[in-house]
Amino acid sequence: MELQFFGAAGEVTGSCHILRFGGKTVLLDCGLIQGSHRDEARNADPFPFDAVRVDAVVLSHAHLDHCGRLPLLVKRGFRGPIFAQEASCELAAILLADAAHLQERDAVYQSRKLGRQVKPLYTVAEGERVMRQMRGVRYRQTFDVVDGLRARFVDAGHILGSCAVELWVQEEGIERKLVFSGDLGQYDTPILRDPDPIDRADAVLMESTYGGRRHRDRAATVTELGELLTSPRSREGNILVPAFSIGRSQEILYQLGRHYEQWELGRFRIFLDSPMAIEASKVYWEYHHLYDEEATRLRLENGGMPLLPNLKLSRSVEDSMAINSIRSGAIVIAGSGMCNGGRIVHHLKHNLGRDETQVLITGYQARGSLGRRLVDGEESVRIHGQDVPVRAAIHTLGGFSAHGDQDDLARWYECVQNRPPVYLVHGERESQEAFAEYLGRRAGAEVHRPRPGETLDLRGLAPAPIPARKPDPDRVTG
Ligand SMILES: [Zn+2]
Ligand SMILES: [Zn+2]
Repeated sequence: MELQFFGAAGEVTGSCHILRFGGKTVLLDCGLIQGSHRDEARNADPFPFDAVRVDAVVLSHAHLDHCGRLPLLVKRGFRGPIFAQEASCELAAILLADAAHLQERDAVYQSRKLGRQVKPLYTVAEGERVMRQMRGVRYRQTFDVVDGLRARFVDAGHILGSCAVELWVQEEGIERKLVFSGDLGQYDTPILRDPDPIDRADAVLMESTYGGRRHRDRAATVTELGELLTSPRSREGNILVPAFSIGRSQEILYQLGRHYEQWELGRFRIFLDSPMAIEASKVYWEYHHLYDEEATRLRLENGGMPLLPNLKLSRSVEDSMAINSIRSGAIVIAGSGMCNGGRIVHHLKHNLGRDETQVLITGYQARGSLGRRLVDGEESVRIHGQDVPVRAAIHTLGGFSAHGDQDDLARWYECVQNRPPVYLVHGERESQEAFAEYLGRRAGAEVHRPRPGETLDLRGLAPAPIPARKPDPDRVTG
Protein backbone atom coordinates (compact mmCIF):
# COMPACT_ATOMS: atom_id res chain seq x y z
CA MET A 1 0.00 0.00 0.00
CA GLU A 2 1.92 3.02 -1.24
CA LEU A 3 1.69 6.32 -3.02
CA GLN A 4 4.34 7.35 -5.49
CA PHE A 5 4.80 11.02 -6.29
CA PHE A 6 5.36 11.39 -9.98
CA GLY A 7 4.34 14.56 -11.83
CA ALA A 8 4.04 18.00 -10.22
CA ALA A 9 6.29 16.98 -7.33
CA GLY A 10 8.49 20.07 -7.09
CA GLU A 11 6.89 21.77 -10.10
CA VAL A 12 3.55 23.26 -11.06
CA THR A 13 2.31 21.31 -14.07
CA GLY A 14 1.95 17.64 -15.09
CA SER A 15 0.00 16.57 -11.99
CA CYS A 16 0.05 12.75 -11.61
CA HIS A 17 0.46 10.44 -8.62
CA ILE A 18 0.38 6.67 -8.47
CA LEU A 19 -1.52 4.68 -5.84
CA ARG A 20 -0.58 0.99 -5.50
CA PHE A 21 -2.38 -1.46 -3.20
CA GLY A 22 -3.46 -5.14 -3.29
CA GLY A 23 -2.06 -5.62 -6.80
CA LYS A 24 -3.95 -2.61 -8.17
CA THR A 25 -2.66 0.63 -9.70
CA VAL A 26 -4.75 3.81 -9.69
CA LEU A 27 -3.64 7.23 -10.93
CA LEU A 28 -4.59 10.51 -9.32
CA ASP A 29 -4.67 12.89 -12.33
CA CYS A 30 -2.67 12.46 -15.53
CA GLY A 31 -1.75 16.00 -16.48
CA LEU A 32 0.21 17.70 -19.19
CA ILE A 33 3.57 19.30 -18.52
CA GLN A 34 3.32 22.92 -19.70
CA GLY A 35 5.97 25.56 -20.08
CA SER A 36 9.06 25.84 -22.25
CA HIS A 37 9.56 23.61 -25.31
CA ARG A 38 12.12 21.62 -23.35
CA ASP A 39 9.69 20.96 -20.50
CA GLU A 40 6.89 20.08 -22.87
CA ALA A 41 9.07 17.57 -24.71
CA ARG A 42 8.96 15.47 -21.49
CA ASN A 43 5.27 14.76 -22.15
CA ALA A 44 6.27 12.12 -24.70
CA ASP A 45 8.53 10.27 -22.22
CA PRO A 46 7.50 6.78 -21.11
CA PHE A 47 5.36 6.63 -17.95
CA PRO A 48 6.97 4.98 -14.91
CA PHE A 49 4.19 2.36 -15.10
CA ASP A 50 2.64 0.18 -17.78
CA ALA A 51 -0.46 2.00 -19.08
CA VAL A 52 -2.11 -1.36 -19.83
CA ARG A 53 -1.86 -2.29 -16.14
CA VAL A 54 -3.43 0.87 -14.74
CA ASP A 55 -6.83 -0.07 -13.29
CA ALA A 56 -8.45 3.37 -13.03
CA VAL A 57 -7.85 7.12 -12.93
CA VAL A 58 -9.35 9.59 -10.48
CA LEU A 59 -9.35 13.10 -11.94
CA SER A 60 -9.45 16.19 -9.69
CA HIS A 61 -10.52 18.73 -12.35
CA ALA A 62 -10.49 19.62 -16.03
CA HIS A 63 -7.41 21.83 -16.35
CA LEU A 64 -4.90 20.38 -18.81
CA ASP A 65 -2.10 20.23 -16.28
CA HIS A 66 -4.31 17.61 -14.55
CA CYS A 67 -6.00 15.75 -17.44
CA GLY A 68 -3.90 16.59 -20.52
CA ARG A 69 -1.99 13.32 -20.78
CA LEU A 70 -5.09 11.09 -20.54
CA PRO A 71 -5.24 10.67 -24.35
CA LEU A 72 -1.64 9.47 -24.26
CA LEU A 73 -2.48 7.02 -21.48
CA VAL A 74 -5.35 5.64 -23.57
CA LYS A 75 -3.16 5.57 -26.68
CA ARG A 76 -0.64 3.45 -24.74
CA GLY A 77 -3.28 0.91 -23.77
CA PHE A 78 -5.19 2.11 -20.70
CA ARG A 79 -8.79 0.81 -20.88
CA GLY A 80 -10.12 1.40 -17.37
CA PRO A 81 -12.58 3.98 -16.06
CA ILE A 82 -11.71 7.65 -15.44
CA PHE A 83 -13.74 9.05 -12.56
CA ALA A 84 -14.40 12.80 -12.55
CA GLN A 85 -17.05 15.21 -11.29
CA GLU A 86 -19.84 15.57 -13.87
CA ALA A 87 -19.03 19.17 -14.85
CA SER A 88 -15.35 18.22 -15.09
CA CYS A 89 -16.22 15.56 -17.67
CA GLU A 90 -17.83 18.21 -19.89
CA LEU A 91 -15.06 20.78 -19.46
CA ALA A 92 -12.36 18.14 -20.01
CA ALA A 93 -14.01 17.20 -23.32
CA ILE A 94 -13.71 20.83 -24.48
CA LEU A 95 -10.11 21.24 -23.31
CA LEU A 96 -8.86 17.88 -24.60
CA ALA A 97 -10.42 18.42 -28.03
CA ASP A 98 -8.67 21.78 -28.27
CA ALA A 99 -5.35 20.40 -26.97
CA ALA A 100 -5.44 17.52 -29.47
CA HIS A 101 -6.24 19.91 -32.29
CA LEU A 102 -3.25 22.09 -31.35
CA GLN A 103 -0.98 18.99 -31.12
CA GLU A 104 -2.03 17.93 -34.62
CA ARG A 105 -1.49 21.41 -36.02
CA ASP A 106 1.89 21.71 -34.37
CA ALA A 107 2.96 18.33 -35.76
CA VAL A 108 2.09 19.45 -39.30
CA TYR A 109 4.08 22.64 -38.80
CA GLN A 110 7.10 20.82 -37.33
CA SER A 111 7.03 18.21 -40.09
CA ARG A 112 7.18 20.93 -42.71
CA LYS A 113 9.92 22.79 -40.87
CA LEU A 114 12.13 19.75 -40.22
CA GLY A 115 11.48 17.98 -43.54
CA ARG A 116 10.51 14.70 -41.82
CA GLN A 117 7.31 13.40 -40.35
CA VAL A 118 6.69 14.53 -36.78
CA LYS A 119 3.82 12.71 -35.03
CA PRO A 120 1.50 14.59 -32.66
CA LEU A 121 1.54 13.59 -28.98
CA TYR A 122 -2.03 12.50 -29.63
CA THR A 123 -4.70 13.07 -32.22
CA VAL A 124 -8.23 14.50 -32.02
CA ALA A 125 -9.59 10.94 -32.36
CA GLU A 126 -7.44 9.80 -29.42
CA GLY A 127 -8.67 12.76 -27.39
CA GLU A 128 -12.26 11.74 -28.11
CA ARG A 129 -11.59 8.17 -27.05
CA VAL A 130 -10.80 9.36 -23.53
CA MET A 131 -14.36 10.61 -23.16
CA ARG A 132 -15.74 7.09 -23.60
CA GLN A 133 -13.87 6.02 -20.48
CA MET A 134 -15.02 8.97 -18.36
CA ARG A 135 -17.48 8.28 -15.54
CA GLY A 136 -19.26 11.33 -14.13
CA VAL A 137 -19.78 11.39 -10.37
CA ARG A 138 -21.55 13.98 -8.22
CA TYR A 139 -20.06 15.81 -5.30
CA ARG A 140 -20.26 14.10 -1.89
CA GLN A 141 -21.18 10.65 -3.21
CA THR A 142 -18.97 7.82 -2.07
CA PHE A 143 -18.12 5.47 -4.94
CA ASP A 144 -16.00 2.37 -5.53
CA VAL A 145 -13.03 3.09 -7.81
CA VAL A 146 -11.79 -0.52 -7.87
CA ASP A 147 -11.80 -3.33 -5.32
CA GLY A 148 -10.07 -1.96 -2.24
CA LEU A 149 -10.50 1.74 -3.04
CA ARG A 150 -13.45 4.01 -2.31
CA ALA A 151 -13.47 7.71 -3.10
CA ARG A 152 -15.55 10.84 -2.62
CA PHE A 153 -15.32 14.17 -4.46
CA VAL A 154 -15.88 17.40 -2.56
CA ASP A 155 -15.84 20.96 -3.90
CA ALA A 156 -12.39 22.57 -4.22
CA GLY A 157 -13.73 25.99 -5.31
CA HIS A 158 -11.10 26.36 -8.07
CA ILE A 159 -13.05 26.05 -11.34
CA LEU A 160 -16.48 24.55 -12.02
CA GLY A 161 -16.42 20.84 -11.09
CA SER A 162 -13.06 21.05 -9.35
CA CYS A 163 -12.57 18.54 -6.56
CA ALA A 164 -10.57 17.61 -3.56
CA VAL A 165 -10.69 13.82 -3.30
CA GLU A 166 -11.11 11.68 -0.21
CA LEU A 167 -9.68 8.19 -0.78
CA TRP A 168 -10.10 5.14 1.45
CA VAL A 169 -7.49 2.53 0.57
CA GLN A 170 -7.79 -1.05 1.87
CA GLU A 171 -5.31 -3.87 1.87
CA GLU A 172 -5.29 -7.02 4.01
CA GLY A 173 -7.81 -5.66 6.47
CA ILE A 174 -6.01 -2.35 6.94
CA GLU A 175 -7.58 0.94 5.82
CA ARG A 176 -5.90 4.30 5.39
CA LYS A 177 -7.54 7.55 4.33
CA LEU A 178 -5.67 9.77 1.95
CA VAL A 179 -6.85 13.23 0.87
CA PHE A 180 -5.76 14.74 -2.43
CA SER A 181 -6.44 18.49 -2.59
CA GLY A 182 -6.36 18.88 -6.39
CA ASP A 183 -6.12 22.63 -7.02
CA LEU A 184 -7.79 24.72 -4.32
CA GLY A 185 -9.58 28.00 -5.01
CA GLN A 186 -9.83 31.14 -2.94
CA TYR A 187 -12.58 31.48 -0.38
CA ASP A 188 -15.34 33.90 -1.51
CA THR A 189 -14.67 33.36 -5.22
CA PRO A 190 -17.66 34.48 -7.32
CA ILE A 191 -19.95 31.82 -8.85
CA LEU A 192 -18.19 28.94 -7.08
CA ARG A 193 -18.74 27.65 -3.58
CA ASP A 194 -15.99 27.72 -1.00
CA PRO A 195 -13.80 24.63 -0.70
CA ASP A 196 -15.66 21.97 1.32
CA PRO A 197 -14.14 21.12 4.69
CA ILE A 198 -12.73 17.63 5.16
CA ASP A 199 -12.71 16.48 8.77
CA ARG A 200 -10.15 13.69 8.92
CA ALA A 201 -7.28 12.11 6.99
CA ASP A 202 -4.22 9.94 7.59
CA ALA A 203 -2.22 11.99 5.08
CA VAL A 204 -2.91 15.03 2.90
CA LEU A 205 -1.47 15.53 -0.54
CA MET A 206 -1.70 19.24 -1.09
CA GLU A 207 -1.10 21.79 -3.85
CA SER A 208 1.10 24.77 -3.03
CA THR A 209 1.11 26.95 -6.19
CA TYR A 210 0.72 30.21 -4.25
CA GLY A 211 1.82 28.86 -0.88
CA GLY A 212 4.42 31.61 -0.68
CA ARG A 213 2.23 34.65 -1.23
CA ARG A 214 -0.87 36.63 -0.39
CA HIS A 215 -3.22 37.64 -3.19
CA ARG A 216 -4.41 41.13 -3.76
CA ASP A 217 -7.87 41.65 -2.37
CA ARG A 218 -10.48 40.56 -4.88
CA ALA A 219 -12.98 43.24 -3.85
CA ALA A 220 -10.39 45.96 -4.55
CA THR A 221 -9.77 44.42 -7.97
CA VAL A 222 -13.48 44.47 -8.79
CA THR A 223 -13.67 48.14 -7.73
CA GLU A 224 -10.73 48.89 -10.00
CA LEU A 225 -12.46 47.08 -12.88
CA GLY A 226 -15.51 49.28 -12.31
CA GLU A 227 -13.40 52.45 -12.34
CA LEU A 228 -11.80 51.49 -15.66
CA LEU A 229 -15.16 50.67 -17.24
CA THR A 230 -16.64 54.01 -16.19
CA SER A 231 -13.57 56.17 -16.90
CA PRO A 232 -13.74 58.97 -19.54
CA ARG A 233 -11.48 56.85 -21.75
CA SER A 234 -14.03 54.02 -21.72
CA ARG A 235 -16.44 56.35 -23.56
CA GLU A 236 -14.01 56.84 -26.43
CA GLY A 237 -12.43 53.53 -27.37
CA ASN A 238 -12.73 49.78 -27.15
CA ILE A 239 -11.85 47.63 -24.17
CA LEU A 240 -9.99 44.38 -24.78
CA VAL A 241 -9.91 41.63 -22.18
CA PRO A 242 -7.60 38.70 -22.94
CA ALA A 243 -8.90 35.78 -20.85
CA PHE A 244 -8.53 32.04 -20.48
CA SER A 245 -11.54 30.18 -21.88
CA ILE A 246 -12.39 28.31 -18.72
CA GLY A 247 -12.87 30.12 -15.44
CA ARG A 248 -11.61 33.63 -16.10
CA SER A 249 -13.93 34.41 -19.03
CA GLN A 250 -16.95 33.31 -16.99
CA GLU A 251 -15.87 35.31 -13.97
CA ILE A 252 -15.42 38.49 -16.02
CA LEU A 253 -18.88 38.03 -17.57
CA TYR A 254 -20.30 37.44 -14.11
CA GLN A 255 -18.71 40.59 -12.70
CA LEU A 256 -20.07 42.60 -15.64
CA GLY A 257 -23.54 41.14 -15.09
CA ARG A 258 -23.45 41.73 -11.36
CA HIS A 259 -22.56 45.41 -11.85
CA TYR A 260 -24.54 45.98 -15.03
CA GLU A 261 -26.57 48.92 -13.68
CA GLN A 262 -23.91 50.37 -11.41
CA TRP A 263 -21.28 50.55 -14.15
CA GLU A 264 -23.83 51.60 -16.82
CA LEU A 265 -22.81 48.77 -19.07
CA GLY A 266 -25.88 49.12 -21.26
CA ARG A 267 -23.95 51.56 -23.43
CA PHE A 268 -21.46 48.86 -24.53
CA ARG A 269 -21.59 46.01 -26.94
CA ILE A 270 -20.05 43.06 -25.09
CA PHE A 271 -18.50 40.24 -27.12
CA LEU A 272 -17.42 36.81 -25.96
CA ASP A 273 -15.23 36.15 -28.97
CA SER A 274 -14.05 32.57 -28.52
CA PRO A 275 -15.81 29.34 -29.55
CA MET A 276 -14.09 27.50 -26.71
CA ALA A 277 -15.06 30.07 -24.06
CA ILE A 278 -18.64 29.97 -25.38
CA GLU A 279 -18.71 26.17 -24.99
CA ALA A 280 -17.26 26.42 -21.49
CA SER A 281 -19.71 29.18 -20.54
CA LYS A 282 -22.60 26.94 -21.56
CA VAL A 283 -21.35 24.30 -19.15
CA TYR A 284 -21.16 26.97 -16.45
CA TRP A 285 -24.72 28.10 -17.21
CA GLU A 286 -26.03 24.56 -17.30
CA TYR A 287 -24.48 23.45 -14.00
CA HIS A 288 -26.12 26.19 -11.93
CA HIS A 289 -26.83 23.73 -9.12
CA LEU A 290 -23.11 24.03 -8.30
CA TYR A 291 -23.25 27.83 -7.78
CA ASP A 292 -22.71 29.65 -4.52
CA GLU A 293 -25.53 31.57 -2.83
CA GLU A 294 -24.98 34.90 -4.56
CA ALA A 295 -24.80 33.45 -8.07
CA THR A 296 -27.90 31.36 -7.37
CA ARG A 297 -29.81 34.44 -6.21
CA LEU A 298 -28.71 36.57 -9.19
CA ARG A 299 -29.60 33.79 -11.58
CA LEU A 300 -33.10 33.47 -10.12
CA GLU A 301 -33.64 37.25 -10.13
CA ASN A 302 -32.58 37.47 -13.76
CA GLY A 303 -34.40 34.40 -14.99
CA GLY A 304 -31.19 32.56 -15.81
CA MET A 305 -27.59 33.12 -16.83
CA PRO A 306 -26.01 35.05 -18.54
CA LEU A 307 -26.87 38.28 -16.75
CA LEU A 308 -25.99 40.51 -19.69
CA PRO A 309 -28.69 41.48 -22.20
CA ASN A 310 -26.08 42.99 -24.54
CA LEU A 311 -23.76 39.99 -24.64
CA LYS A 312 -22.99 38.70 -28.13
CA LEU A 313 -21.53 35.23 -28.55
CA SER A 314 -19.19 35.47 -31.47
CA ARG A 315 -18.61 32.02 -32.92
CA SER A 316 -17.54 32.27 -36.53
CA VAL A 317 -14.41 33.89 -37.92
CA GLU A 318 -16.67 36.35 -39.80
CA ASP A 319 -18.36 37.37 -36.53
CA SER A 320 -14.95 37.95 -35.02
CA MET A 321 -13.65 39.97 -37.97
CA ALA A 322 -16.74 42.16 -37.93
CA ILE A 323 -15.74 43.37 -34.44
CA ASN A 324 -12.65 44.99 -35.96
CA SER A 325 -14.74 47.64 -37.68
CA ILE A 326 -16.06 48.92 -34.33
CA ARG A 327 -14.19 52.06 -33.23
CA SER A 328 -15.65 52.51 -29.76
CA GLY A 329 -18.04 51.05 -27.22
CA ALA A 330 -17.01 47.40 -27.51
CA ILE A 331 -15.85 45.18 -24.67
CA VAL A 332 -14.15 42.17 -26.24
CA ILE A 333 -13.34 39.10 -24.15
CA ALA A 334 -11.20 36.71 -26.18
CA GLY A 335 -8.40 34.15 -25.87
CA SER A 336 -5.70 33.32 -25.51
CA GLY A 337 -5.24 34.49 -21.97
CA MET A 338 -1.59 35.37 -22.53
CA CYS A 339 -2.17 36.84 -26.02
CA ASN A 340 0.09 34.15 -27.53
CA GLY A 341 -2.44 33.25 -30.18
CA GLY A 342 -6.15 33.18 -30.77
CA ARG A 343 -8.53 35.95 -31.72
CA ILE A 344 -7.35 38.48 -29.14
CA VAL A 345 -4.17 38.94 -31.22
CA HIS A 346 -6.21 40.32 -34.13
CA HIS A 347 -8.07 42.72 -31.87
CA LEU A 348 -4.80 43.89 -30.33
CA LYS A 349 -3.38 44.48 -33.78
CA HIS A 350 -6.35 46.69 -34.68
CA ASN A 351 -6.58 48.59 -31.38
CA LEU A 352 -3.17 48.85 -29.68
CA GLY A 353 -2.11 51.81 -31.81
CA ARG A 354 -5.06 53.91 -30.61
CA ASP A 355 -4.84 56.17 -27.53
CA GLU A 356 -8.43 55.55 -26.52
CA THR A 357 -8.09 51.73 -26.28
CA GLN A 358 -7.85 50.00 -22.91
CA VAL A 359 -6.44 46.50 -22.41
CA LEU A 360 -7.36 44.77 -19.16
CA ILE A 361 -4.94 42.04 -18.15
CA THR A 362 -6.69 39.72 -15.69
CA GLY A 363 -4.41 36.70 -15.51
CA TYR A 364 -0.86 35.49 -15.28
CA GLN A 365 1.40 36.41 -18.24
CA ALA A 366 4.38 34.11 -18.73
CA ARG A 367 7.76 35.49 -19.70
CA GLY A 368 8.09 35.79 -23.47
CA SER A 369 4.34 36.05 -24.14
CA LEU A 370 2.83 39.04 -25.95
CA GLY A 371 0.75 39.76 -22.86
CA ARG A 372 3.89 39.99 -20.74
CA ARG A 373 5.48 42.44 -23.19
CA LEU A 374 2.43 44.67 -22.91
CA VAL A 375 2.47 44.46 -19.11
CA ASP A 376 6.18 45.31 -19.16
CA GLY A 377 5.36 48.52 -21.02
CA GLU A 378 7.00 47.89 -24.39
CA GLU A 379 6.37 50.79 -26.74
CA SER A 380 6.00 48.65 -29.81
CA VAL A 381 5.23 44.96 -30.29
CA ARG A 382 5.48 42.70 -33.29
CA ILE A 383 2.23 41.07 -34.40
CA HIS A 384 1.95 38.88 -37.51
CA GLY A 385 5.27 40.26 -38.80
CA GLN A 386 4.18 43.85 -38.34
CA ASP A 387 5.42 46.42 -35.79
CA VAL A 388 2.45 47.79 -33.86
CA PRO A 389 2.98 50.85 -31.64
CA VAL A 390 1.43 50.56 -28.18
CA ARG A 391 -0.59 53.72 -27.47
CA ALA A 392 -3.37 51.93 -25.61
CA ALA A 393 -3.58 51.99 -21.83
CA ILE A 394 -2.57 48.62 -20.39
CA HIS A 395 -4.07 47.85 -16.96
CA THR A 396 -3.14 44.86 -14.84
CA LEU A 397 -5.90 43.65 -12.53
CA GLY A 398 -4.14 41.44 -10.01
CA GLY A 399 -6.80 39.88 -7.79
CA PHE A 400 -8.59 37.31 -9.98
CA SER A 401 -6.58 34.18 -9.19
CA ALA A 402 -8.32 30.78 -9.35
CA HIS A 403 -5.79 29.46 -6.82
CA GLY A 404 -5.98 30.00 -3.11
CA ASP A 405 -3.10 31.88 -1.51
CA GLN A 406 -1.13 31.00 1.62
CA ASP A 407 -4.00 31.92 3.89
CA ASP A 408 -6.67 30.05 1.88
CA LEU A 409 -4.53 26.91 1.75
CA ALA A 410 -3.84 26.97 5.49
CA ARG A 411 -7.53 27.61 6.22
CA TRP A 412 -8.47 24.54 4.18
CA TYR A 413 -5.91 22.37 5.97
CA GLU A 414 -7.07 23.56 9.38
CA CYS A 415 -10.49 22.00 8.76
CA VAL A 416 -8.85 18.58 8.99
CA GLN A 417 -9.27 18.10 12.72
CA ASN A 418 -6.59 15.52 13.40
CA ARG A 419 -3.83 17.57 11.66
CA PRO A 420 -2.30 14.76 9.58
CA PRO A 421 1.09 14.95 7.84
CA VAL A 422 1.11 17.02 4.67
CA TYR A 423 2.88 16.22 1.40
CA LEU A 424 3.27 19.29 -0.79
CA VAL A 425 2.95 18.92 -4.55
CA HIS A 426 2.06 21.27 -7.42
CA GLY A 427 4.30 24.20 -6.52
CA GLU A 428 7.70 25.60 -7.30
CA ARG A 429 10.44 25.08 -4.75
CA GLU A 430 10.31 28.59 -3.29
CA SER A 431 6.53 28.53 -2.69
CA GLN A 432 6.76 25.05 -1.18
CA GLU A 433 9.51 26.09 1.21
CA ALA A 434 7.63 29.21 2.24
CA PHE A 435 4.37 27.31 2.70
CA ALA A 436 5.98 24.45 4.62
CA GLU A 437 7.40 26.96 7.06
CA TYR A 438 4.11 28.89 7.29
CA LEU A 439 1.87 25.84 7.80
CA GLY A 440 4.24 24.36 10.35
CA ARG A 441 4.16 27.59 12.35
CA ARG A 442 0.44 28.34 11.98
CA ALA A 443 -1.08 24.87 12.30
CA GLY A 444 1.70 22.78 13.80
CA ALA A 445 1.64 20.55 10.72
CA GLU A 446 4.31 18.03 9.83
CA VAL A 447 5.12 19.07 6.26
CA HIS A 448 7.03 17.06 3.63
CA ARG A 449 8.24 18.11 0.23
CA PRO A 450 8.52 14.85 -1.74
CA ARG A 451 10.76 14.61 -4.77
CA PRO A 452 9.50 13.05 -8.02
CA GLY A 453 9.70 9.26 -7.80
CA GLU A 454 9.66 9.20 -4.00
CA THR A 455 7.16 6.82 -2.39
CA LEU A 456 5.06 7.08 0.74
CA ASP A 457 4.28 3.86 2.62
CA LEU A 458 0.62 4.24 3.58
CA ARG A 459 0.67 1.35 6.07
CA GLY A 460 3.36 3.16 8.02
CA LEU A 461 1.08 6.17 8.63
CA ALA A 462 -0.44 6.36 12.07
CA PRO A 463 -4.18 5.94 11.53
CA ALA A 464 -6.09 8.98 12.72
CA PRO A 465 -8.83 8.68 15.34
CA ILE A 466 -12.26 8.82 13.72
CA PRO A 467 -14.40 11.69 14.97
CA ALA A 468 -17.98 10.78 15.85
CA ARG A 469 -20.13 11.44 12.82
CA LYS A 470 -23.65 10.89 11.55
CA PRO A 471 -24.11 8.21 8.89
CA ASP A 472 -23.66 9.70 5.42
CA PRO A 473 -27.05 9.96 3.66
CA ASP A 474 -25.40 10.58 0.27
CA ARG A 475 -23.53 7.33 0.23
CA VAL A 476 -24.15 5.20 -2.83
CA THR A 477 -22.24 2.18 -3.96
CA GLY A 478 -21.33 0.87 -7.39
ZN1 LIG B 1 -6.29 23.91 -12.00
ZN1 LIG C 1 -3.10 22.77 -11.61
